[in-house]
This record gives sequence, structure tokens and C-alpha cells, in this order.
Amino acid sequence: MSALDKTTGMGLYMLSVIKSFFFFGRYFWEIFSLVVQDLHFLILIVQKNTRFYNKIEINYSNIIYELNNMELNEIISQVKENNNWKSESRIVGEACEYYIKNNIKCVRCNDNNFEKYKTNEQSKDLICISCNQKFQIKAKSATQKQVNNIKNKNTFRTIGGEYSTTLRNINEQIDYLIILYEKQSYKIINILYIKNENISSNCIMPRKPLSITAKRAGWQGCNILFDNIQFII
Ligand SMILES: [Zn+2]
Repeated sequence: MSALDKTTGMGLYMLSVIKSFFFFGRYFWEIFSLVVQDLHFLILIVQKNTRFYNKIEINYSNIIYELNNMELNEIISQVKENNNWKSESRIVGEACEYYIKNNIKCVRCNDNNFEKYKTNEQSKDLICISCNQKFQIKAKSATQKQVNNIKNKNTFRTIGGEYSTTLRNINEQIDYLIILYEKQSYKIINILYIKNENISSNCIMPRKPLSITAKRAGWQGCNILFDNIQFII
């Protein structure tokens, strides 16, 4: 084969490559963009699932969520940034409301569709827009040992709000979600869920009214003793 034939052969080959490129080229972008779109969609699904929860199982009495983000740190600094609050309990309380809103599905209907009540709304913090269930969110620092104790005894005692308001709230069918977190690290150890059906007036114990000399003289608080607790984690 002469050198000329070789060149012609190569030229013809190149020509057919260019021809086929033009032939398939117009489909190329369509196929390419379809693949990119699908990939993007897939990535979105994966991101969404891993961000919120990998697995949710609702057994008869145990709710198991596997949460990836188990820290309140980030939300706490956001709350501090947005508000000029000094009270630690107020800051952590607000952060916990946002945590639940962003990370947990409604235990009643399995939707993540919460809305926050106004800050001064008494005794209810979140409402599930999908099923209308109202929730009160509480936060309490605890150690792993204390959480184990709560698990073993299935009781949890905490300070409630004003006695008569808390009593009245039983009729409002408010469920409780209580975030138990480690004091220094703000790591969440567990989240307790108490259905309003399991809260009776017997669970609400009055405390001594504040003395006459106190700023809010006569104000009467209460303790709440929860049993029949479901553990979210
Ligand atoms: Zn719901």
C-alpha cells in the first residue's frame, strides 16, 4: 500500500467519524442532559434521605429513628445570632423546637410538616399541619446514666409550667417531645415522646405557691411525672 493510499484511507476514516459525530451529535446533548438530570434527581433523593433519617420503624410501642444530626450546637449558635437572649434555657428550648421541626417526622402521621407557634403561646410549641397534632417541646440536660434510668423505670419527672394551665392543657390533647442532651457538648442522647392519652391529672403535681415576697407572689408551678414513655432513638 502506497503512502498516498494510507493517507486517503485515514482521511476517509476521519470523514466517517466526523459524519457519525454530526449524525449522533444532535442526540448527544439530549442524552447527556437526561443522564445529568437523572443523576441530579438521584443525588437529591440520597441527600434528602440521609439528611433526615435513614430508617424509621414504628413498632407497637417503640419508635426508632436513626438520626444523622444528633447535635444542637449549630442551631444554638443560630438562635443566639438571631436573638439577643441571655437565658440559657430559653436559647436551648428554642433550638430544640427548630431541631424537631427540621429533623423529626410527626409521630402521629409520619409527615415532616411542623409549624412553630408564636414564642409566647402557652404550652404548645409546634403543630403538625398534616394531622393537626399539637406538641410541647421540652429540653433537659442529662447524662447517659440518667437516660438509662429513665429507660429502665419508664418514668420521667420534670418541672412543668403554671399548675392550673398545665392541668387545663390535658384537655387540649398536647403531646410532649422531650429532648435529653449532654450539657457541655449539646449532643442529643435521646428524645422522649409522651402521647397526651397517657397524661392524666394524676401526673401533674402542684408545687408550693411562691411566697408573698417573691416577684411573682402566689404563682404556682407544678411537677409532671410522665410514664408510658416512648423512646424516639
Ligand atoms: Zn402529624
